[in-house]
Amino acid sequence: MDLEHQDVKYLPGVGPKRAQLLADELQIRTLHDLLYTFPYKHIDRSRLYYIHELTADMPYVQVRGQILSFDTEGEGRKRRLVAHFTDGQGIIDLVWFNGIKYVMSVYKTRTDYIVFGRPSAFNGRINIAHPDVEPADSLRLNAMGLQPYYTTTEKMKRAGLNSRSLEHFTATLLERLDPLPETLPEYLVSSLHLVSLDEALRHIHYPTCAEDLRKARFRLKFEELFYIQLNIIRYARDRRQKYRSYVFSRVGELFHEFYGKKLPFELTGAQKRVIREIRHDMGSGRQMNRLLQGDVGSGKTLVALMSMLIALDNGYQACIMAPTEILAEQHYATFQSLLAGLPVRVELLTGTVKGRRRQCVLDGLETGGVQVLVGTHAVLEDTVRFKSLGMVVIDEQHRFGVAQRARLWSKNDNPPHVLVMTATPIPRTLAMTLYGDLDVSVIDELPPGRKPIQTLHQFDNRRESLYRGIRSQLDEGRQAYVVYPLIKESEKMDIKNLEDGYEQLCRDLPEYKISRVHGKMKPAEKEAEMQDFISGKTQILVATTVIEVGVNVPNASVMVIENAERFGLAQLHQLRGRVGRGADQSYCILVTKYQLSADTRKRIQIMTETNDGFEIAEADLKLRGPGDLEGTQQSGVAFTLRLADLARDGQLVQLAREMAGKVLDDDPHCAAAKNEILWRQFNKLKKDWVDWSAIS
Ligand code: ADP
Ligand code: MG
Repeated sequence: MDLEHQDVKYLPGVGPKRAQLLADELQIRTLHDLLYTFPYKHIDRSRLYYIHELTADMPYVQVRGQILSFDTEGEGRKRRLVAHFTDGQGIIDLVWFNGIKYVMSVYKTRTDYIVFGRPSAFNGRINIAHPDVEPADSLRLNAMGLQPYYTTTEKMKRAGLNSRSLEHFTATLLERLDPLPETLPEYLVSSLHLVSLDEALRHIHYPTCAEDLRKARFRLKFEELFYIQLNIIRYARDRRQKYRSYVFSRVGELFHEFYGKKLPFELTGAQKRVIREIRHDMGSGRQMNRLLQGDVGSGKTLVALMSMLIALDNGYQACIMAPTEILAEQHYATFQSLLAGLPVRVELLTGTVKGRRRQCVLDGLETGGVQVLVGTHAVLEDTVRFKSLGMVVIDEQHRFGVAQRARLWSKNDNPPHVLVMTATPIPRTLAMTLYGDLDVSVIDELPPGRKPIQTLHQFDNRRESLYRGIRSQLDEGRQAYVVYPLIKESEKMDIKNLEDGYEQLCRDLPEYKISRVHGKMKPAEKEAEMQDFISGKTQILVATTVIEVGVNVPNASVMVIENAERFGLAQLHQLRGRVGRGADQSYCILVTKYQLSADTRKRIQIMTETNDGFEIAEADLKLRGPGDLEGTQQSGVAFTLRLADLARDGQLVQLAREMAGKVLDDDPHCAAAKNEILWRQFNKLKKDWVDWSAIS
């Protein structure tokens, strides 16, 4: 049977109407799609309970018996249908709050049913709300073993198409299916003790026991991850051979002069090591594609600047792209002051640089007069043309989509060297999949003399002690941030919160000057307020998360995060990284309401216990799952994976990567006879893949 070309509508029991729904709601069009739509859970239905055994704390149970009678109880929205159900020894109530008409028309008294659901107690009696009810004699499939549960949508349910229907469809399909051909080569299947594809697909829907299910999932997850890794590694090796790039053979005057005369401090060991790695890449003749990970405050900017100087020393231009205007401006100011006195022209290009000034920058880029460009995504516009762009730095890369990054390529005949920097540490297994084709450098050392930030949790009804804390720091000449969340959906409320907070601070701390910044302000206004804080004219900055990335005010020693319960871990860590940049003790105060969910409490606890960005990233991945992590969404990887979970299947990712590497070492031309199945499958999959491995 050619599963991929057989329309699901011809499967007995489906038909054109339901096929349309399956296509619209679950993207199931062919029999192949149906086969690869896996249940999200299985429930053990091998045991029947007696009604007198049931208690309200049991998970799902099933009982067998008959409905004695129906009653409707309650009024209006509380109206419900109650069926009194007995197994001959005890009685429970089955309860429905909607679909009452339908239920009454379908279920009959004096008929044997198997009822399945979660028992609870009401008025001293046990009931089951919205149970699954099946005629006892029609039970087939796995209803008495591990029963699969499939995702369905509201629209499907309204049309009577539920998990049970999908169960029937897959059962029908599997009954008719000839053994499926293998999609992994025999030597992999046997050396890894995998079950065959045929067995795996049958058991992932209908396992006979938990162990079968585990083996089926293992095999399918491995296969999924394996082909992705094969794609990534092959792509990376390919590119290494194909793409030549500029050879920056010299480390010349600018670099040396900067290093010798301008550098305001000794580089950390980690900074030196990373600069060596970058120099080596840029001198190798192959295009650099390097991911630089380093916690907030670890000094990535300096590494970027020095790498850019190498490009300049070899006669090329360099460009750094930042995700926000404030950050771009800050980089621009930093670069200008660090490079003062060196013959380097640095220019800024953001959405607010307009008219004559903009034209002047654009001209400078085309003639080569401008050697360093600092900007936002404005640098991607077609009007921005370089004479010879040799090196590109992308700061806080998770803010940019893949497509945006790729556009920087097209600015040249030859691809420039690319350095991608992130302060949101990416757990290893995720990095292997998301950035598997990039080389990775890590700055795992903070500049010397920094004291770890102390993080405290405070409930928001204890303002006085909070203000006391802030005051004591300000009196020592330090500065403080007070940050409010800002979410699009509740923007008005959020800005009001910020304004209220600002006014309260003005009232309660009248002896200090306070700046205020949020996304709704005009750029010039924002800029002026920021500048007042940066220059020390104001002591407190009240802001929304516009300050999240990159702002650098070493004198600030207090970070107050209001409504901390509304921030994710990565964001909290980023915000905290705004302080602790000088030699003095800094503090981060997480202010929350009193009632917190378990998840939030966990987040706060992690924050108060560790300053290590990598630890926090791992915890974040476990708490949220990779689909929600910044970066995964744009990359599309979250959509590609059906079964594997990058948060939980780290070891399997590792295994898949190792195996894929071995296959390629062993068969670099993709032509070995023993890999025939493998490459055929690979090429088939490749057609459907978005090329999210091509990051830059
Ligand atoms: P991030 O990695 O978060 O981008 P930055 O590059 O903004 O960090 O650096 C944070 C602060 O540390 C800046 O004030 C910078 O001048 C300072 N810094 C960077 N490297 C060193 C160093 N080797 N010694 C001392 N201070 C440093
Ligand atoms: Mg930075």
